[in-house]
Amino acid sequence: MKKVKSLVLFSGGLDSRLAIKLLQEQGLKVEALYVKLPFGTGCCSSFECSFNFTQIQGVKLNVLDASNGKLFKEYLGILKKPKHGRGKGFNPCKDCKIFLFRQAKKFAKKINAEIIATGEVLGQRSFSQMKKQLMLDEEEAELKNKILRPLSAKLLPETTYEKKGLVDREMLLGIQGRTRTTQIALAKKYKIKYPTPAGGCLLCEKHLKNRFKILVKGDYLNEKNVVLSSIGRHFLIKNSWIVLGRNEKENEILKNVEGGKLFVPEFPGPSAIVMGKINDEKIWSLIKAYSKNGSLENKKSFNKFLV
Ligand code: SF4
Repeated sequence: MKKVKSLVLFSGGLDSRLAIKLLQEQGLKVEALYVKLPFGTGCCSSFECSFNFTQIQGVKLNVLDASNGKLFKEYLGILKKPKHGRGKGFNPCKDCKIFLFRQAKKFAKKINAEIIATGEVLGQRSFSQMKKQLMLDEEEAELKNKILRPLSAKLLPETTYEKKGLVDREMLLGIQGRTRTTQIALAKKYKIKYPTPAGGCLLCEKHLKNRFKILVKGDYLNEKNVVLSSIGRHFLIKNSWIVLGRNEKENEILKNVEGGKLFVPEFPGPSAIVMGKINDEKIWSLIKAYSKNGSLENKKSFNKFLV
């Protein structure tokens, strides 16, 4: 008999690993979809670790790169004007999740997967994983009753898949809340390794909120320079975006960024990259201010431009 195919939206974290295991246990064929977001995810930053897991489990890992091309542009659009607001940083979590669901929906159609599942756990995060919110997210992605959450399914309304008998609700779980005891016990049972949850999403960083606000609203970010958003010292001078390296490693990164004008001093000091039009003299005085022999006073004069 042909196996029912399911697609798990895979972050790499323990919960989505368990979702895969629970579906496999039901005899379903499982594929995983990992969406590479431009500013990282809230879960697992090591792609290699995710890849190893899926290899061991015999699951095909599909990767959609949203840090490039059309998807990147779409994501920036969300970031600029999220329909559902932001968290404490610049993070538009609800819209971001709906974006992920939409990608899963398209991808499931492409590979003829009959089931879409996630590793979401009811009430795990303060508000984004409350029952009402979970239901709203799927409705907005036009997937009402079509997101299976194997870890919490018994506490949620029956999905279309359960109603159709594609999955056995009895074999699914009823986990809720923030404690991870059950998940850790399950990881032991299935002998799976998993990463410690890492705060990998830059958009959640409160200290970067203002920088993202300026860069996104001013249309400074693109796929070539997005790497700069989390490194270096940033200045906005006369509508030009300037990034100074804070160490050798960052100076090297600047060298490889396309689309800006690079300044590399011949004296001990930071390299700079400039996006926009500003006279070179101003940049050299900024570089000098932050060089080994720069004075505190000179540095201070640039403080008002820091972002
Ligand atoms: S914006 Fe929110 S939902 Fe999206 S990756 Fe970051 S933390 Fe996760």
